[in-house]
Amino acid sequence: MVEDRWRDEEASGFEGRLGECVYGSRLLGADPGLVLHGGGNTSVKTDFIDITGRRIEALYVKGSGWDLASIEAEGFAPLPLERLRELLALDSLSDVEMMRELGAARLDPGAPMPSVEALLHALLPHPAVQHSHADHIVTLTNTPDGERLVREALGAGVVIVPYVMPGFDLAKAVAEMWPQASPDAAGMVLMNHGLFTFGPDTRTAYRRHIELITRAERWLAEEAPMSSGGGPPLPKVDRTVLADVRRRISQAAGRAMVVRRHTGGEVSRFAARPDLEHLARRGPLTPDHVIRTKPLPMVGRDVEGYADSYREYFAEWRGRARTEPVMLDPAPRVVLDPEMGMLTAGETAQAAAAAADIYHHTIPVLERAEDHLGGYRALPPGDLFEVEYWDLEQAKLRRAGNPPRLAGTVAVVTGAASGIGRACAAELLERGCAVAGFDLDPSVEQAFAGPSWLGAAVDVTDHLAQDEALNRVVERFGGVDIAVAAAGVFGDSAPIGGLDMEQWRRVMEVNLDAAAALLAGVHPLLMRSPVGGRVVVIGSRNAPAPGKGAAAYSASKAALTQLARVAALEWATDGIRVNIVHPDAVFDTGLWTEELLAARAAEYGMTVDAYKTRNLLGKEVTSDMVAGAVVELCSDTFSATTAAQIPVDGGHPGAV
Ligand code: ZN
Repeated sequence: MVEDRWRDEEASGFEGRLGECVYGSRLLGADPGLVLHGGGNTSVKTDFIDITGRRIEALYVKGSGWDLASIEAEGFAPLPLERLRELLALDSLSDVEMMRELGAARLDPGAPMPSVEALLHALLPHPAVQHSHADHIVTLTNTPDGERLVREALGAGVVIVPYVMPGFDLAKAVAEMWPQASPDAAGMVLMNHGLFTFGPDTRTAYRRHIELITRAERWLAEEAPMSSGGGPPLPKVDRTVLADVRRRISQAAGRAMVVRRHTGGEVSRFAARPDLEHLARRGPLTPDHVIRTKPLPMVGRDVEGYADSYREYFAEWRGRARTEPVMLDPAPRVVLDPEMGMLTAGETAQAAAAAADIYHHTIPVLERAEDHLGGYRALPPGDLFEVEYWDLEQAKLRRAGNPPRLAGTVAVVTGAASGIGRACAAELLERGCAVAGFDLDPSVEQAFAGPSWLGAAVDVTDHLAQDEALNRVVERFGGVDIAVAAAGVFGDSAPIGGLDMEQWRRVMEVNLDAAAALLAGVHPLLMRSPVGGRVVVIGSRNAPAPGKGAAAYSASKAALTQLARVAALEWATDGIRVNIVHPDAVFDTGLWTEELLAARAAEYGMTVDAYKTRNLLGKEVTSDMVAGAVVELCSDTFSATTAAQIPVDGGHPGAV
């Protein structure tokens, strides 16, 4: 249900007319049925007072790069209304010219670039404007008889504007209609796009927005009731099948892509429809979804066929394009398949999640319009290409900047709740990886936040549990490119004469057996990596230089090193690199307790401080230093390095 979330006492916490607009914008942005991922915008007309005290009649309009849900006052660009009216008087203005003029007109050069719909906001003769791409509104408009449905559902007090691409032409089209439009209209529906409401203040504009959407919702409930209930449960899909699809999508995209699987009841019902192919191939709810979802989803698994038809469409459309566009990657972002359900793809986990959010909202609209309202009808494919290659949309993506170096790749890190494992996970996330962290400690689940993180509380010595966790990783991210085996325990210090065999077994199980099981499970995934698999095993200086009293630990790390060397030999032809990092004396990890540290220092006849820095560089080694080396080894800097053993230990005379 759409809900009026306006609370006067909350609104009073926001200062002035712009503050009220900030509050109303956040309310609009907080409802995903109204606004998704940068869609929608708002404005308020109020005076701007410049440094000399001059009062300028201004439009504060949402700046690009801000989401309504979290917008602040500085997310609005102040523009002089007089200048905007001059621009509106022009006969034509290209998108590039319009954005240049809007950018130059900003009263504060530090403000973000104004929304591409700024001119439309400017010409509406009301101080406050709210705009969304509400699901219930586009359900009505994206049908063969959309105008009549909008009239019926919303009543006569709404102006209806046929589809025109957002920008100057849309503003001109609305400007031409406006004198005839009823002056007390409560709102304006743009076909195949969304809803504008306006009023003397943001509260009124917001309430009208909710009121109109509520009318649409009630009308739809009456005239187009949705059958509830999900579809059949989807079969388990072998993880190598998913990893193959991800590899092919990544190849089509020309870079590693995160692919996320969705199997909810709504998805499975949709994917099981006999008319799936026919229905899904009719385009998005609103044009600005195209940069996240591509013009059309892929139905089935033929990635190469999808890419070919994308190229064909592109070639055909390019003939009509005003400028010479460079083809974007032809990889699908949304995949629908009766067995797999829905897969969404993106350059990052965030992008894959955004495509999913959008398509989860698309499915019920498609079904409702198709089954009850005479058929779903989106823009023709040519127009969708127009939007995808539209300068203004591409500029949005460019402003997002270059992706980090490991963007789109997927890593698994064991022992990720603390110490070196956690530092590796943090560094991989920092470089743009989607990361799954395994650890016995359940705090691993919340170790990091956001769609790029999957924390799994799993005992790595339970091989079945670890294998099941790998399935979850592939469902979430599509495959694995990087594996870092960092889970490790030290065990009690004891001379061999006093060896406790249970301790010995435990150390071997965690440090060696779990790593062997991980490598075995992850190999089929690494060999399907679109960028070539990379493995780093956390060894120890104890492997090349064992310590008294640490027989189990030293032996386990030596065996682990040998395991990694064999993997490097066996997997080289699969394009998988396997390297070993040997840290020493990293004391900021879960391995080291005060007592253990004191015991080890005593073993060497040293103070704790001297023991911590007993290396050539006289340096205390930290988890972050180890993680830096590990992640660099996973980068292309070391694309020709495998089976290397890199010490991260401050240097030792015996090893020089
Ligand atoms: Zn819009």
